[in-house]
Amino acid sequence: MNPVITSDIVIVGAGVVGTSIAYSLIPYDVRVLLLDKNNDVAMGATRANSAIIHAGYDPKPGTLMAKLNVEGNALYEKLCHDLSVPFRRCGSLVLAFSDTERALLEELLDRGIKNHVPDIRILDKDELHRIEPGVSADAVSALYAPSAGIINPWEFCLAQAEVFVRNGGTFLPNCEVTGIRKDTSDPDRFYLLDIPSGTIRARTVILACGIRSDIVHGFLSTPDFSIVPTRGEYYLLDKSEGSRVSHVVFQCPNASGKGVLVAPTVHGNLICGPTSEVLKEDIEDTSTTSAKLSEIKEKASRSVGNISWRDNVRNFSGIRANSTSDDFILREIPDQEGIFEAAGIKSPGLASSPAIGLYMLNLLKEKGIPLPEKKGGYDSTRKKIHFRDMTNEERAELVKKDPSYGRIVCRCEGVTEGEIRDALLSPIPPVSLDAVKRRAGTGMGRCQGGFCGPRIVEMMLGRNKNTAETSGTLPDPSPLSILQDGNGSNLFFEREAEKEVES
Ligand SMILES: Cc1cc2nc3c(=O)[nH]c(=O)nc-3n(C[C@H](O)[C@H](O)[C@H](O)COP(=O)(O)OP(=O)(O)OC[C@H]3O[C@@H](n4cnc5c(N)ncnc54)[C@H](O)[C@@H]3O)c2cc1C
Repeated sequence: MNPVITSDIVIVGAGVVGTSIAYSLIPYDVRVLLLDKNNDVAMGATRANSAIIHAGYDPKPGTLMAKLNVEGNALYEKLCHDLSVPFRRCGSLVLAFSDTERALLEELLDRGIKNHVPDIRILDKDELHRIEPGVSADAVSALYAPSAGIINPWEFCLAQAEVFVRNGGTFLPNCEVTGIRKDTSDPDRFYLLDIPSGTIRARTVILACGIRSDIVHGFLSTPDFSIVPTRGEYYLLDKSEGSRVSHVVFQCPNASGKGVLVAPTVHGNLICGPTSEVLKEDIEDTSTTSAKLSEIKEKASRSVGNISWRDNVRNFSGIRANSTSDDFILREIPDQEGIFEAAGIKSPGLASSPAIGLYMLNLLKEKGIPLPEKKGGYDSTRKKIHFRDMTNEERAELVKKDPSYGRIVCRCEGVTEGEIRDALLSPIPPVSLDAVKRRAGTGMGRCQGGFCGPRIVEMMLGRNKNTAETSGTLPDPSPLSILQDGNGSNLFFEREAEKEVES
């Protein structure tokens, strides 16, 4: 018989929405299981987006998106401080290039005021060019929202998940839910979730499945919405381009979204994008195309001239969970008592996510889900060493205590051996080179891991060997187990000739 795991609450999907919900449940004395079909957290839209904590003038007043965007934005400073995640409140500008667009700015301003966006206002041409000299001279005015910010989205997601695990929560990777049904034999109203290794049994289930929200809802009943997976492609430029602008620079929004932006990143790079393309066949196709990348160059150059495109370090794409609903869908699924969903979480889903977590928590309480407070206390903070952001005095002090922080492994980003070791031993241990990158920031620079990759593989093998020896369980200590990223992206293969010799 397949093994059955029982939990009080199961959260399906470990993107920023699922982990925000898990984080908001830390103070309660309930067994919570967070699971994802991928081999790490933040493997969906959460790892490939513009990384903007929007101010909140874009959503229609009165919607959940408007309310939770502004509320979520306001929570970021404290959260990022508590979780040791880089965040910068740099402000955003929406440029107008004509009188027609200037009228659009007035509409956005009006929405911003209705949505309670703090300190939002329209700048005339002089003030715009004074505060942001990098924008095109053709821009005649701009909507200025000082509360907008930039963040590292996957580190934020990961930090919440790590703290959740450290406080007794469980994260199960590689755990795709392929079916959900009521346990009809059980008078206590349990649900059964089919996963590859068996079954999970829980009274309360929260679905946070991104672009698969409608599919997973469909395991229970026909959804009254559908997801329209919409790909957005990007350029990520070298740090030499990172100071072209100091604000997030948007163009006026249009039918396909907020348009192409040019923005600094918290790591000091420049990001340009995204495009907008509905995916009809493979809904997880995150390839990039020369046509869409050319479109980005053309549109971004309208906002900011002279971008040096040859200083591109990476192109990537992410897939939005746009939906046929005009708003976020946050509810207990009709006629499915105990099953909750956070669906259609398109942009500004990242900005809203801390408020979505709290909204879902309140919904659980309203619906009478038992949530006794933890008696022994809890710690919802995380400390993390960011060596390159320290002063020389702080660095010297640290290296004196632990010399591994004095050995730089990733030269582009200045990441030390000590930081990589911390990442390898973190509460959700990384199983791929990209997972180490998401934790320690290695391989993010110009060489994209070309120099530090082999040393990190060596360190991963050392960690795997030690863990296997001490616990006698996973991870697999063989080099063949090392992945670049998702499952199947193995870095090493046995040569056919060697296999034959062995057999
Ligand atoms: C191009 C682009 C740009 C964006 N820019 C911004 C921005 O600047 N600011 C902003 O606020 N928002 C932005 N967004 C939106 C934001 O990224 C998303 O709203 C947010 O990441 C959604 O998080 P999520 O957890 O709902 O989804 P995801 O991060 O996609 O997570 C869903 C998870 O569910 C898992 N899953 C699905 N089905 C199953 C199953 N059956 N079993 C187990 N696990 C399952 C998936 O593996 C995935 O990890 C952007 C999005 C995109 C794509």
